[in-house]
Amino acid sequence: MTSVVSTHDSALKPSSAILRPLVAAAALANAGFLGFYATAPAQEPTSGETTAFVNGSWYDGNGFVPRSMYVRDGVFVDAPSGEPTTTIDLEGAVVLPAFAEAHHHMVLCEPGRIESFIDAGILYAAILNARVSSRSCQAEFHGDGSVEIVNALAGITASEAHPSQIGLYFLEEDDVDGEWVHVIDEAEDLDRVLARIEAVRPDLLKIFLSYTEDYAQLRTDKTIEPWYRGLDPAMVPDIVRKAHSMGLRVAAHVMSATDFEVAVDAGVDLVAHLPGFAPGAAFTDDEEHPYLSALESDPDRYRVSGKVAARAAERGISVATTVSGGSPTAAIAENLRTLRDAGVRLLIGSDRGEFHSVDEAVFLVEHDLMPADEVVQPLAVTTPRFLFPERAIGSFGPGAEATFVALRADPLVDIGNLRVPLWVVQRGAVLRQPQPAKQVLTQGQP
Ligand SMILES: [Zn+2]
Repeated sequence: MTSVVSTHDSALKPSSAILRPLVAAAALANAGFLGFYATAPAQEPTSGETTAFVNGSWYDGNGFVPRSMYVRDGVFVDAPSGEPTTTIDLEGAVVLPAFAEAHHHMVLCEPGRIESFIDAGILYAAILNARVSSRSCQAEFHGDGSVEIVNALAGITASEAHPSQIGLYFLEEDDVDGEWVHVIDEAEDLDRVLARIEAVRPDLLKIFLSYTEDYAQLRTDKTIEPWYRGLDPAMVPDIVRKAHSMGLRVAAHVMSATDFEVAVDAGVDLVAHLPGFAPGAAFTDDEEHPYLSALESDPDRYRVSGKVAARAAERGISVATTVSGGSPTAAIAENLRTLRDAGVRLLIGSDRGEFHSVDEAVFLVEHDLMPADEVVQPLAVTTPRFLFPERAIGSFGPGAEATFVALRADPLVDIGNLRVPLWVVQRGAVLRQPQPAKQVLTQGQP
């Protein structure tokens, strides 16, 4: 008997699969390439219908291996003893775990951008600063069938410092503190502000550092715009320590190499930019300003030393790339080399409104900043796992969430192939399929 069903049929919807793979988390979070298919210690589902995905080549951390994969209740399972209920023919596609975006803002509660992320196979994103009130739309717009997010809500900065000025586009001046940022100028403000943050409970905490080596000067020089100001570096270790004791991971905005070092020594979890991503007057085009123009001609401002990179690697600190919004300068190339040589974990993030991490990944390879394999792996494996460390994602092992992207051709051969996803599947539910829709589902033998 053969039946033709739509891929939106409820047979493909996972039922209660989301919580099951949590058990597998610890093992998978640190699994290296060789552990890619390692069996997760999750309980395999024992009921439900099995879907076979055939004629695909599946990522193993190094390349793509032809095999059939089986999904039941939203997670990968070993081959069933009986016949699968449904078979989907991937027609030679290459399959990766779904992609993540390590640094974004605009996909939050924004239906058009959410659709464009799903189109691109990006099903996870970190929102690294947002209005506190965005919590209320998050449940409605994100989750099953959408992009899953970790939301930093409002981050911590100083008064008249980045990103307060952005809040003025949509808030009255008096409403920025507490809704768009939390302001700390003195150490004695910290506990009060952390209590306020605890009350709104972000998924992680964002802090803003900017040219901390010149903190005292920038604090008083009113010719410098808020874009280039940030927190007092002396307070950063305390902020990070207390945030960690509240169970919050910390992501740091940085501009200079000194900011990077301050963040690393304070023990942040994520450095949200590569130093040099916005050199000189990049934010304001104020090329005439003596301070900002001097920055541009001083590459040492942005150069991360091998020693600091080694400390970042030792502490397991991740760094989001965010370089595709500018030009691929020598400082960016050098920092990427230094961090890679030191073994620092790089995450793929764009921090760009109308663009996303696939654009960032393609940019990195097309400008010879990173090789394709070192971009594809964090896009599909390391970044998703960093965002949701408690979940079994970024893997095809039994028990892992069946959330993946099937591309028309191998992105390790031509990075442009990242831009041609044919199938996007989330916990076994088909969100995108080749157009025009092919009725390729049959009941019976794979
Ligand atoms: Zn950002």
